[in-house]
Amino acid sequence: MSKSKGYAALAPKAPLAPYSFERREPREHDVVIDIKYCGVCHSDIHQTRDEWSDYQDESIFPMVPGHEIAGVVSAVGSKVTKHKVGDKVGVGCFVDSCRTCTECQRGLEQYCSVQTIWTYNGRDKEGNPTYGGYSDRIVVDENYVLHMPNNLPLDACAPLLCAGITLYSPLRQWEAGPGKKVAIVGMGGLGHMGVKLAHALGAEVTVLSQSLKKQADGKRLGADHFYATSGPETFTKLAGSFDLIINTVSAKMNWNEYLSLLKVDGTLVVVGLPEKDVPIAAFSLTAKRSRLAGSQIGGIAETQEMLDFCSKHGVACDIEVVPIQKINEAYERVLKSDVRYRFVIDMASLAKD
Ligand code: NAP
Ligand code: ZN
Ligand code: ZN
Repeated sequence: MSKSKGYAALAPKAPLAPYSFERREPREHDVVIDIKYCGVCHSDIHQTRDEWSDYQDESIFPMVPGHEIAGVVSAVGSKVTKHKVGDKVGVGCFVDSCRTCTECQRGLEQYCSVQTIWTYNGRDKEGNPTYGGYSDRIVVDENYVLHMPNNLPLDACAPLLCAGITLYSPLRQWEAGPGKKVAIVGMGGLGHMGVKLAHALGAEVTVLSQSLKKQADGKRLGADHFYATSGPETFTKLAGSFDLIINTVSAKMNWNEYLSLLKVDGTLVVVGLPEKDVPIAAFSLTAKRSRLAGSQIGGIAETQEMLDFCSKHGVACDIEVVPIQKINEAYERVLKSDVRYRFVIDMASLAKD
């Protein structure tokens, strides 16, 4: 075991504070990563505040969050072939899975039917808690480590590992591309990547945001249209417009209203994870043979495909880099939708504590 330092919530809803813990000694297939940057996902806030207790068995505290990890390989185990010391690498929302079930065999490790081992707030195969990327280093099996784009800044690519893949996967699954009308609901960390990726895939992109405050940014990121959901005519004007709507909103909202914006056979994909159930009227689905679907991040192969796509198309995230000492302030600003569009922690700041 070796010492690692980071920031943790010591108890549910506690502010994050400096915390020291142990990482495992690298095994034959392990990669040791010096973490340079870690994105701040709204899921980090939900989990450190234990907001998903209705849907999860347990939350493990102290909790070191962080699953948008970008760093540099500092050591490798004797049998590692996929990565070498000095490589720019990334780790997303999970660090292992059973590797043998049908889902793992299909490259859908995030839906492993045995156990997806989450990067934090999970337990490894020995039953020990996992600790995430708000920390100086991490030890991960080489098969769950991604190659980061070499032509783009590492800090702006960190959020691709959750925000990027969470939008890329449903955009590909439901075939966003030329001739398709796609709406992205909520332009936060996930949503702004949805705009960039849907645009890069060639779709006609509409943003549905609470207000018009982010309109100029939306257009700059690649949106063709931008509407405020608070506008009195938005839902009547856009009724029956979209092939695909991806809802990234973290709060409970009226999904029936969004279903009314689909064309016949259109799909509303939920990726935002509010803490409470959302009621759906049967009529909202039957009226246009609509589909209501969900999607959770993406598998390792698809995440690498997304990173390579971003590298080719010059797509990275719009970020605000913060020292780790400002993490609690950053959380409050995320909750107020006051982030343009993802906070990324500069891990060099850990040395200042
Ligand atoms: P975020 O940066 O806070 O963005 C959420 C956006 O939703 C906000 O910027 C805001 O956009 C809109 N919004 C917030 N509160 C709202 C409300 N009360 N009513 C209507 N709109 C509201 O969060 P994020 O990091 O993108 O994450 C979004 C959600 O996705 C979270 O629940 C997170 O846990 C979940 N998530 C899911 C997956 C998955 O695999 N399915 C992966 C990562 C995250 P506007 O200002 O444009 O309205
Ligand atoms: Zn996330
Ligand atoms: Zn599996």
